[in-house]
Amino acid sequence: MRIGFIGLGIMGKPMAKNLLKAGHELKVYDVVRGNMEELVDAGAWAAGSAKDAAAQAEVVITMLPNSPHVKTVVLGKDGVLEGAGEGTILIDMSSIAPLASQEVGKACEARGVRMIDAPVSGGEPKAVDGTLAVMVGGDKAAFEQVKEEILLKMAATAVHCGKLGAGNTTKLVNQVVVALNIAAVSEGFMLAKMAGVDPELVYQAIRGGLAGSTVMDAKVPMILEKNFKPGFKIDLHIKDLNNALETAHQVGAPLPLSAEVLEMMTNLHFDGNGNDDHSALAKYYGKLTGE
Ligand code: NAD
Repeated sequence: MRIGFIGLGIMGKPMAKNLLKAGHELKVYDVVRGNMEELVDAGAWAAGSAKDAAAQAEVVITMLPNSPHVKTVVLGKDGVLEGAGEGTILIDMSSIAPLASQEVGKACEARGVRMIDAPVSGGEPKAVDGTLAVMVGGDKAAFEQVKEEILLKMAATAVHCGKLGAGNTTKLVNQVVVALNIAAVSEGFMLAKMAGVDPELVYQAIRGGLAGSTVMDAKVPMILEKNFKPGFKIDLHIKDLNNALETAHQVGAPLPLSAEVLEMMTNLHFDGNGNDDHSALAKYYGKLTGE
């Protein structure tokens, strides 16, 4: 298929590479031109704008930081909707606010473009391996059309969760669970250290029990080594928790623990840790204990 791929950051780059490997024809675009080089070396065409990437594409994929970026890239000047022909499928794989997905989807519909929101979970290692988890909302027929040949070339699973925005609502659930889980392991391992039990041994002892989790196995080694290279940046997780709280306010849902962890992450942001991996939440406990 002819695919326009926009946003070649930590996630977009390996995801686009997997689509090239699967035999698709790619025209890529990133506002940072240097981010396109690796893809061009691997056989993709470089576009001059989002509009250019969308022109003649059967499918356009966006992998951008947040709602305002997606709105600019899709609806703005020289954007996707200026280039995309009728019948094009837009797959927005960015993690954005569900309401923003619906707003962008409405504008797409008016132009004959079919949109699905399809954010991912799994982080950079799974993006590289092509084993991400994709959560999808929107046009079911469009989803079926791209599931095997596109989504499952980047992911191990792709589940349709409901109407447009449902993919991003599902992603917010994921982000709440991950944020609280990282806070939980940070708190627990701080206790181990202060109580004089080797955190490495605590990890080996409990990872096979009920407290064990994918988050524990991915993040505790980073916390113990104090290696906070992203990965998933604190600033992006702040974005997701803000979107979760905004959505919660809209539907009247109480999220007391998410609000607390957002405060902790915001504190780290103002201490200059926004570009650290979200496992740097452990530093908050370091500060509390004077480490
Ligand atoms: P990133 O910041 O590394 O990449 C974003 C890319 O978008 C950058 O290359 C940037 O130059 C480009 N960009 C920004 N504005 C643009 C514009 N107007 N036109 C064209 N390109 C533009 O972010 P990432 O880590 O790749 O994350 C992308 C999305 O995926 C985010 O919504 C994030 O929450 C989500 N996500 C990230 C991870 C992870 O582990 N990093 C995991 C799951 C989901």
